[in-house]
Amino acid sequence: MTRLPVIAIDGPAASGKGTLARRIAQALGFAHLDTGRLYRAVGLTVLKRGEDPADPAAAQRAVEALDLSLLEDPELRTDRTGGAASKVAAIQAVRDALLDFQRNFAAHPPGGKGAVLDGRDIGTVICPDATVKLFVTAAPETRAERRYLELKNQGSARTEEQVLRDIQTRDARDSGRTVAPLRQARDATLLDTTHLDIEAAVARALEIVRAGLRT
Ligand code: C5P
Repeated sequence: MTRLPVIAIDGPAASGKGTLARRIAQALGFAHLDTGRLYRAVGLTVLKRGEDPADPAAAQRAVEALDLSLLEDPELRTDRTGGAASKVAAIQAVRDALLDFQRNFAAHPPGGKGAVLDGRDIGTVICPDATVKLFVTAAPETRAERRYLELKNQGSARTEEQVLRDIQTRDARDSGRTVAPLRQARDATLLDTTHLDIEAAVARALEIVRAGLRT
């Protein structure tokens, strides 16, 4: 059986990787999985139970009882949930429990044409044989500014300095953890979006992906 193409997109918080992944999937007619939502759903489950996301036993109970309808919960996108997600994501048992779901999506994507997965460890751990790998990044100040504007539009009162601090804390936790730390796979193409607007970033990402799919 021929393998379907898999596009792996990794990068830090608010780098633009989610938007790029969605737009690439649309352009190619591939299915898209935002894997951060899985970790967010586990983090949110722990928070809703009033437990500590850094407690391995609480995180493990949450992932074992994961209710996929939480993937649609509006609280999934808040920074509080993002912080909890990055704590549960550092626990090996949580990552192990989510591995099969992600690999199964990549191997059997809805629609049957191909898959785009975005996250932190797609090119390094989940799909090390992905057809194309992108590592999307931007300067922390640029990411904070984008995230700040997004939150402001949603009515949040957080200042840009607070948002930058949240991003730096999450970057440090995601890159510094011992299990599946955020890092660029050796065979990933780096896309720095610091000086690109979203349309320019999408155009560049599609160029890289289309070239990778042809080879
Ligand atoms: O991408 P997003 O901000 O939604 O991810 C939330 C958190 O989930 C990240 O800070 C990271 O700790 C974790 N995550 C991960 N591996 C992935 C996707 C997300 O560890 N593949």
